[in-house]
Amino acid sequence: MEIIDLRSDTVTLPSQAMRDAIHRAELGDDVFGEDPITNRLQETAAQKVGKEAALLVASGTMANLTCLLTHCRRGDEVILGSESHVFYYEAGGMSALGGIFPQTVPNQPDGTLRIEDIEGAIRSDNVHYPRTRLISLENTHNRCSGMPLSVGYTASVVDLAHRHGLRVHLDGARVFNAAAALGVPVTDLTRGVDSVSFCLSKGLSAPIGSLICASREFIDEARRVRKMLGGGMRQTGVIAAAGIVALDEMLERLSEDHANARMLAEGIAGIAGLAVDLDYVKTNIVLFALCDTRISETRFLAELEKKGVKLMSRGNSLFRAVTHYGITKKDIERALAVMRKIMGGK
Ligand SMILES: *Cc1c(COP(=O)(O)O)cnc(C)c1O
Repeated sequence: MEIIDLRSDTVTLPSQAMRDAIHRAELGDDVFGEDPITNRLQETAAQKVGKEAALLVASGTMANLTCLLTHCRRGDEVILGSESHVFYYEAGGMSALGGIFPQTVPNQPDGTLRIEDIEGAIRSDNVHYPRTRLISLENTHNRCSGMPLSVGYTASVVDLAHRHGLRVHLDGARVFNAAAALGVPVTDLTRGVDSVSFCLSKGLSAPIGSLICASREFIDEARRVRKMLGGGMRQTGVIAAAGIVALDEMLERLSEDHANARMLAEGIAGIAGLAVDLDYVKTNIVLFALCDTRISETRFLAELEKKGVKLMSRGNSLFRAVTHYGITKKDIERALAVMRKIMGGK
């Protein structure tokens, strides 16, 4: 039985073109700046998101941490969403390793932070307070149903930050999904932000890697931080080769994942005992609830798995399904049939 793995877009395996590119990769020592493919990937990435320079790192978590450590000194404060990946899922790295102080502002269900909430969180100059240094946004928003932040919203946060002398970091792990969903160039979503990170290893299907993009000056400093974190890797062309294929070939097809997520959500909406808000299905993430008390979360997951469908539990009867490269329309049909059966439908 073929497994339909909807737990995450990180389970994607490299395409044949990626494997071929890795196989052929011409290599050098990247700590000396001599890995040709890594250099090419970094130039391509910077250009794609409209920044001067870029830096390859091992993961999205490392990208965010490197950016935060580059922006902030010890005791500085970051304003970020209460549901943000940086706050929730990165092992408190900013505090543990950087002495950086997080101030959370509630995420709205669409992944935004209210402008007035951000403004209210910015500290005045007073010896009692930490120094606010940075605002961190997330696009698309992982825990908020994969919702994309709009061009206008991003611009208004950038404007607010810069008026207060603050910087903006964009955790753009899935920023290309946001661009595809909104039908805008990704540069519209990165304009004005002082650093942006994105993942190669999620919907873009590469095996490893994330990029940080920013000004040349910022990237020079971030390179030092990356080294300090143990991220000075050597023949990184084996990673970068797949990354180049990802940027060349995988961006175009993201809307396919979005269409499959939509199809899945519409199917789930029609199953008694399951509930999903279709207004919050815009990209490749479907967040839905199990509202039939006769079946437990654990049993629901186990029954699905027995029939070859894997999902992630978010707790509180919420489940997450993520579509990606390797999930077809047929898979969605099969996953829906399995769910219908478990929920006792015909
Ligand atoms: C996955 C993710 C990350 C971290 O990426 P890893 O490569 O898993 O460390 C950061 N931010 C967001 C929004 C993510 O979804």
